[in-house]
Amino acid sequence: MSLGDAKRLIIKVGSALLVDETTGKLRRAWLEALADDVAALRERGTEVIIVSSGAIAMGRRLLGLDHRTISLADKQAAAATGQISLSQVWQEALHRNGLIMAQVLVTLEDMESRQRYLNARGTLNALLGHGAIPLINENDTVATAEIRFGDNDRLAAKVAHMISADMLVLLSDIDGLYTADPRKNPDAELIPEVRELTPEIMSMAGAAPTMYSSGGMVTKLLAAEIAMKSGCRMMIARGTIYHPLKAQLDGGLHTLFQPSETPLAARRHWIATSLSARGAIVIDAGAVNALRAGKNLLAPGITTLQGSFKQGDAVRVLASDGVEVARGLSAYSADETRQLMGHNSHDIEPILGYSRGNAIIHSDDLVLAEG
Ligand code: GLU
Repeated sequence: MSLGDAKRLIIKVGSALLVDETTGKLRRAWLEALADDVAALRERGTEVIIVSSGAIAMGRRLLGLDHRTISLADKQAAAATGQISLSQVWQEALHRNGLIMAQVLVTLEDMESRQRYLNARGTLNALLGHGAIPLINENDTVATAEIRFGDNDRLAAKVAHMISADMLVLLSDIDGLYTADPRKNPDAELIPEVRELTPEIMSMAGAAPTMYSSGGMVTKLLAAEIAMKSGCRMMIARGTIYHPLKAQLDGGLHTLFQPSETPLAARRHWIATSLSARGAIVIDAGAVNALRAGKNLLAPGITTLQGSFKQGDAVRVLASDGVEVARGLSAYSADETRQLMGHNSHDIEPILGYSRGNAIIHSDDLVLAEG
């Protein structure tokens, strides 16, 4: 599996690549070359999402703030200032290639509240469906120290989980994971592939981050852990060169972290094992057959509800005899579902005044019970 086989690809670009450490200026020509690579991948039919850092670094320069003494409030002020410039340069670079960019700012809370998580996922899926390139960063302006990701490596991996991406590329200032720090140890060797995050692998992440990067190798391995659990392959590759993605398509050096499951299998595993069900939806025999045939759970097949649940909660889906048929994430709350059950799917909007789609539970969010 190489970059060229990815269907849904997330590319994470760190501040240290975007902003020149000595002058503090944006490396525009490099960014334009990367945007050309993104356009080439889109041409091949790959969906691309960019997670870009750089807001704080750019804003700091615009506001004339010293990175050694910067307070949290000033960091957030810098993010608010720099994010506009960051978005603008990305937009210009992608627009040159005829691509439409959309800015999405997220916080850790957005990923942890399943309601917001499902909404963010719906928006990202819609953007990708329209052929746009989402540009994602943390919403640093509102995220306080305790609730911040603080590093976009893990943020990118969480996004990969959220939208079931099959590949995440972390562009770095190094070719990949080495057995030791290659700047200090000439015997250090690049590890081309990792299938399991053993303690030995984890201990290889020792290098300290540079001035502009919050991560270093430690957060990259933490990101690998999230990505692998989500069934997403993760690649660490050198981003300091021009056209770093093209270099990978041409067979460049990297470390590839290989998960054991596909994103969909991993997602279903997560729904089945990590989430506790809040309530139950009872469905008729026709709906049972539809679910078993891989279809969405729709309102007409629902006969009764048990308990209460919110949008995004995990619920049990029962046949009329009480046997559990499936579990899934409900796109509608119990109150909403109660109003919709038994009705035709195209009545959702007239009944509620809005719609989050026809599926009460989408088949991607549904795990059939064994047997
Ligand atoms: N969100 C931060 C920014 O845009 C960067 C976080 C990181 O360096 O990974 O400046």
